[in-house]
Amino acid sequence: MPWTSETVPSETAPAEPQTRMTAIRRGLACRCPACGEGRLFRGFLKVVDSCEACGAEMHHHRADDLPPYVVIFIVGHLVGYGILTAETRFEWPLWVHLAIWPALTLVLCLLLMQPIKGAVVGLQYALGMHGFGAARARMTTAEETTCDGDAGADEPSRLRGA
Ligand SMILES: [Zn+2]
Repeated sequence: MPWTSETVPSETAPAEPQTRMTAIRRGLACRCPACGEGRLFRGFLKVVDSCEACGAEMHHHRADDLPPYVVIFIVGHLVGYGILTAETRFEWPLWVHLAIWPALTLVLCLLLMQPIKGAVVGLQYALGMHGFGAARARMTTAEETTCDGDAGADEPSRLRGA
């Protein structure tokens, strides 16, 4: 059954992260950007449809090509600097270069891809992009209508920039 704001009681509505950096940091740790508890991935790069802990919808993300771009940017600079440093300071034979740099590039890319994708999803969540904002507004509205005896409740705090 698809999750809707009507089926989830207000107690389980996810709290908004305090800052964009909080959401990005939670994503970097491969955790739900809303609560920081539930897992963000159900596979190596497959994002869960909704958080198992707080129910926040995650299927809105459109990370697309940004995570590989960021990974290539980081790994390219690290490995490029390493190659240039090794070439200028040491006289390694060619086979040593061939043994080190492609393997290091592959390992770094595999290690960084999931956390970077998590951070991108966290950023999109914090910015309310691609339906994240509409889903949060629906949950907030459902929360306000379920506690209508609390007139004059505070406005939900807006995300602040880090
Ligand atoms: Zn969550």
